[in-house]
Amino acid sequence: MSRVTFNRKRVKLKKLLGIRARLALLALILVTPLMLERARSLEDTRAKQIAQATQEFSTIARQSVQAQREIVSSVETMMKSAAYIRASAGGVSRSCDILRASMQVELPWIRSMSIVAGNGRVQCSTLPSLVGVDLSDRSYLKKAVETRGFVFSDYLLARAAKLPIMTAAYPVAAIAAGEDAVIVAGINLDWMSKVMADLGGRSGVSAVLIDSEGTVVAAPFDQASMVGRALDNVPLLAAIADKAIGSDQATQSISFIAADGSKRVVHSARIPGTGSRLIVSLDEAKIAASINREIRTVYLQLAFVCLFVLLGALIAAERLIIQPIEMMAAIAKRFGQGDWSVRAAKSRLPAEFFPLARAFNTMAAELGQRERELVATNDRLTVMASIDMLSGLANRRGFQSRLDFEWMKAQQYSSELSLLMIDVDHFKLFNDTYGHPEGDVCLSRLGETLAGVAAETKGFAGRYGGEEFCLLLPDTDTNRALQIGEMVRSAVQNLAMPHATSSHKTVTVSIGVAGATPSDMQRPGDLIEAADAALYAAKHRGRNAVVEHGFVRMLDGVGKIALAS
Ligand code: GH3
Ligand code: MG
Ligand code: MG
Repeated sequence: MSRVTFNRKRVKLKKLLGIRARLALLALILVTPLMLERARSLEDTRAKQIAQATQEFSTIARQSVQAQREIVSSVETMMKSAAYIRASAGGVSRSCDILRASMQVELPWIRSMSIVAGNGRVQCSTLPSLVGVDLSDRSYLKKAVETRGFVFSDYLLARAAKLPIMTAAYPVAAIAAGEDAVIVAGINLDWMSKVMADLGGRSGVSAVLIDSEGTVVAAPFDQASMVGRALDNVPLLAAIADKAIGSDQATQSISFIAADGSKRVVHSARIPGTGSRLIVSLDEAKIAASINREIRTVYLQLAFVCLFVLLGALIAAERLIIQPIEMMAAIAKRFGQGDWSVRAAKSRLPAEFFPLARAFNTMAAELGQRERELVATNDRLTVMASIDMLSGLANRRGFQSRLDFEWMKAQQYSSELSLLMIDVDHFKLFNDTYGHPEGDVCLSRLGETLAGVAAETKGFAGRYGGEEFCLLLPDTDTNRALQIGEMVRSAVQNLAMPHATSSHKTVTVSIGVAGATPSDMQRPGDLIEAADAALYAAKHRGRNAVVEHGFVRMLDGVGKIALAS
């Protein structure tokens, strides 16, 4: 990338990152770590809550297993007692009497207790309907006789009542050798389901107790319809049926994706002394649903906080930085337009801008003062530029601009304007005779005299150049101008400044007079030319004379008024 392109991109970026954007970015940089930290801690909480829930259910499942185990153990104890009764009571009918009597305090989970003879027929039972039923084909019975130990059956249907039961068998031979009777107990599955009650009614949790064949023998009330079904027909648990049934481990945990797509964890535990297993399955998503809701709420809160912080940053930037800067820029603009009276109002500015406002105000006051001084100096210079220092009259420049002004005025009011051009006679000789400094003194006195006449006649006197003066007479006709010319001529003569080398022996002046009523056809320069021509004529007439442009009029005495040809 070339340097130029890079610089252009940098300028674009700078424009994009205005002060508002920069502050918003800063606010985000400040808030984001807090936000991320909060999000991380929430995710942590989520993981912990799931672990805690899993732990809780595993505990409940363990307790349930324990309760089931206690049931089994109490059944075994009861049956051992019954076997003892059968072995020691002597005779079936007496044993049956004692058995029925002892079952008065029956345990809720034992439905029936029977003594089965060696041929497999029920000899006596706490449930009279069972007496005479043939159980010889029941595998649990055969297994009890074979093993001479306690056997817990799988799920089966009771012959008499056609109800789902589980049965336990205990051979009397286990305590009295040679006895062929077997004690058989029917286990109340409802009761086993009751023990699992804690696992029911929870969203995302399913629990079942299965026998060694995988048939559901107990379930919490809300899942009671599962009882009697094979595990591979139970929705959501079918996928792990094989693993759960085939396992010979006391406990196991399996994670899997169920048919409905939910991620589930399954805990399974075998009930000691039986082929049964308790299976508890948890839907992680449902367990985490409440924390997820909480996390969503917190994210929403965080989004609001961010929005709030951003808005706050923008408003603060606007009020605390942008507006004051714009205000100061507007003031600077007014300064630029020459308005030094404007001041930055501190009451409308944040404290940080006070020094800048003070500097602005001081600068405005100082520059205003300096401008006033400059204007005054300029005025003085302008005046000085149009004044002749020797005579104290207007110089040629000053005279010229006054002539232009009076010409315009006279043209506007159609009044007459006259001009006298006054030249010192033989002034070169005066200088030669008395020296240049004396010449200056002479010019200075002539200036004073002319100023006096100007004041008297409302005229405007000036030094046109060298030893040449002029007197502009607004609103004055040529006749009056001739009289004023004569006034000047005689006033100079009356000064009686000696001039030995002049034929008049004193300093005299020759005066050319011209008058006009200004119009668009003429220009101010024409009036000067006319007066000059008249002056030229006056010199030719012998000097110390007043001559009007266009005609000559002779006055008696020392002076003469002539008409210029
Ligand atoms: P004329 O009667 O024809 O006007 O003769 P003149 O000698 O007055 O005219 P000229 O133009 O020949 O001489 C003008 C003289 O005025 C020459 C110059 O030295 C003198 N002069 C011009 N300005 C000044 C000045 O400021 N001071 C002094 N002392 N002399 C000046
Ligand atoms: Mg001259
Ligand atoms: Mg002269």
